[in-house]
Amino acid sequence: MKTEVGLTAITIYLKDYQAPHYALEHTDLHVELLSDCAEVSATLRFKRAASAPKDAALTLLGADLELLSVAWNDQPLSADDWQWQGETWQFNGAGEGGVLSTKVRIYPDKNLALEGLYRSHGLYCTQCEAEGFRKITLFPDRPDVLSTFRTTIVADQASCPVLLSNGNCVASGKAENGRHFATWEDPHPKPSYLFALVAGDLAVLRDSFTTASGREVALEIYTAEVDQDKCDHAMRSLQTAMRWDEQRYGCEYDLDRYMIVAVSHFNMGAMENKGLNVFNTSCVLAHPATTTDAGFQRVEAVVAHEYFHNWSGNRVTCRDWFQLCLKEGFTVFRDQQFSAEQLSPVVQRLEDVAFLQTHQFAEDAGPLAHAVRPESFVEINNFYTLTIYEKGAEIARMLHTFLGAEGFRRGSDHYFKTYDGQAAIVEDFLSSMAIANGLAVDTFVCQWLRWYRQPGTPVVRVTSAWHADSKTLSLTLTQSQTSHAGVTPEPLPIPVRLGFIGETGELTTTLASVSASSHQLLLEKAEQTWHFSQVEQAPVLSLFRDFSAPVRVQAALSDEDLARLIRLDSNSFNRWSATYTLATREILALAEQYRRGDVRARQPQDSALAGALAAMWPALATSDPALASKLLQLPNLAYLSDQVSCYDPAALQRAREALLLQVLTPLEGSLQSILANEHMLTPYVYSAAAMAARSLEAVALDALARLQPEAAATMAQRWLSVAPHMSAEQAALTTLVHQQLPGADAAVQAFYARWQHEPLVLDQWFATQASAPHASARNTVEALLQHDDFDAAVPNRVRAVVGQFASNNPVAFHDMAGKGYDLLAQQLLLIDARNPQLASRLAGALGIWPKLDPARQACVLKTLDALLNESLSSDTRETLTRIRA
Ligand code: ZN
Repeated sequence: MKTEVGLTAITIYLKDYQAPHYALEHTDLHVELLSDCAEVSATLRFKRAASAPKDAALTLLGADLELLSVAWNDQPLSADDWQWQGETWQFNGAGEGGVLSTKVRIYPDKNLALEGLYRSHGLYCTQCEAEGFRKITLFPDRPDVLSTFRTTIVADQASCPVLLSNGNCVASGKAENGRHFATWEDPHPKPSYLFALVAGDLAVLRDSFTTASGREVALEIYTAEVDQDKCDHAMRSLQTAMRWDEQRYGCEYDLDRYMIVAVSHFNMGAMENKGLNVFNTSCVLAHPATTTDAGFQRVEAVVAHEYFHNWSGNRVTCRDWFQLCLKEGFTVFRDQQFSAEQLSPVVQRLEDVAFLQTHQFAEDAGPLAHAVRPESFVEINNFYTLTIYEKGAEIARMLHTFLGAEGFRRGSDHYFKTYDGQAAIVEDFLSSMAIANGLAVDTFVCQWLRWYRQPGTPVVRVTSAWHADSKTLSLTLTQSQTSHAGVTPEPLPIPVRLGFIGETGELTTTLASVSASSHQLLLEKAEQTWHFSQVEQAPVLSLFRDFSAPVRVQAALSDEDLARLIRLDSNSFNRWSATYTLATREILALAEQYRRGDVRARQPQDSALAGALAAMWPALATSDPALASKLLQLPNLAYLSDQVSCYDPAALQRAREALLLQVLTPLEGSLQSILANEHMLTPYVYSAAAMAARSLEAVALDALARLQPEAAATMAQRWLSVAPHMSAEQAALTTLVHQQLPGADAAVQAFYARWQHEPLVLDQWFATQASAPHASARNTVEALLQHDDFDAAVPNRVRAVVGQFASNNPVAFHDMAGKGYDLLAQQLLLIDARNPQLASRLAGALGIWPKLDPARQACVLKTLDALLNESLSSDTRETLTRIRA
């Protein structure tokens, strides 16, 4: 294997992949949890692979382990019998195979990186994906080595009454000195990244699920005793997801038990360990008093996501980490489909798209751009990215659009059946789609693989001409991509859904003798032209309906065209996307006007967006409140930053506020009557209708704050004092703080006094202040970092303060003198020393620098250089190096 050895960094290449020389038939673990350490004994039964050379070495991986003993077929080995370099341990005497027994000592209490076995508030738990298992024992810690597991945990009974691992509990009982044990067996072969162990004092909520074939599954959600009242929503979500996966994908659960454990110290959202998911508390706990609507939705989506991994990830896993999108992109697509069916499909889609366009497009356009299936990496933990998850999901969605729901299902059935119990690659997924649909496999795989191999967001240019005499329309689409190092872009298969909007609504048109109001094309060459007939009037094109492909569209639509789409498009998603396009255009024009020194006040009639919304919004607020609330949430600065070549946050903020005022002024009466409904002050119900009503009122309150600050402040105070749930409290607090209304400071103090004992609510309290869109927020953040409740050991808290500041508060972060970057840099060094994954992720905020003006660019570059001169983890060093390059 070719590697580049730098100071500490080793680059790993996809092209160097080699199958393992030894298969692992069974893993037996014995874990003794002791007062200041843990001792792990592993018994591993290996068999040489038929394809491996006779003298092949047995290669295992280990990190931060104290090796106590090693034996091969019960004969002790000495240090001369093996080589151990870096993380790689090699033994040359394995021959046809045999049993390796090792014993190691590790220190969970000192593990602050939260990878491997660690302790969170006294609770032992593990996080093994991607390469954490090697910190627990010497092991072939790679996803293409699968084995059955038997795990015995021994611990003090009083402090750790609950002992959990994957699979079924087959034995338990007392041990010496007040200790006890439990033995778990997982019959499904799995790679080590899906291993989990939990031990501690936990309460449990139990329920059950009967599978389609009639098997009873015990469902258990483990949390701290005080959080047991916050598990009902996760349990309901789990049951709904289990039924949904049976109905939509024919996937049934395969063990007698499914367990979820809530952990307060966690680097990510959640982890799909076989039969024993470990969750960030923020993704499992939900209660109306403490959780907002967004929080409830997140719990439902993450519970479903991790459950869906049982097939897309666990039963069929990944051959190597380059294939990460195979499980993540597909599973995100599945959870998006699921969520769309639970609440509002349109709102789900536009939220997913806004997220992609805001964050993934920026990643793909900046220094951290990479392919959905990268060719190389240094630290795999740096590749759990928006590109792999969100763009990966869009590729699965395009296949679904192109093949149709039934064709896609045939493909996924073929994939799950053919690769069950195996470690697959992206090509296996694509060829399943082709085979199951009778398509030429090689052509199909070669063409669709380009989406996985070519970084960057493609651009599609649209030109069309309508001919009045023949009533025909010719449409030409041209695709282009910027080339990235080593990859010459080739044309992608791009599904294009489109319709035609006439003066009074949708037109029916004909393409290749099919008459319809919505057509679907496949753009697969650099340029293609289609001819539509029976186009009775000059239409406005409604392009890429439901965002049928993750591309940037360049079409010459006038303001009037966009206003027509906003009023008349039958595709609700495209109505929303037309408001985004028009709002962006108007904000950028205003910013440019201000830059020229033209600061005339703007009237509503100067804005095409304001005109279009005034004409239809009040009625929409009644007929579709969920969509209506979205139409008033104009693109945020992060989204806008991706639309400009030179990003000046303060100027865009000012222009955005000016446009908001133009848009909201004509709607004032309507907003007032919405607020008079006071849905916000009725008891919490989790339903699409109730959530839409609340979201509309939250938007209305925020709007009122711009039109009548005093009245809005009074209303927000009232919400805070009589709020029956957190959705109302949080909306009121955000409006008070973000819009600096009278009484904001007192509200912040009162909220703290009320909620200081609820960590997840306190995270929101920190985040609300750290994201307040004012330059003064930098001082606030400095103060919050000194607050008694700020705890650098808890990733949720760090993200609430440092993450919000750096990634969700551009006005404060991009201080002209670079003080925001200094603040981040200081925190990065502190965090990196204990938790590299967390630090590396936060460091990504500096990737925006090429978009900034020269003065700010210089500040960021200075910060980057200073950081790179410090001693850093390989995670953070790789991220900063790629950003700097
Ligand atoms: Zn996942």
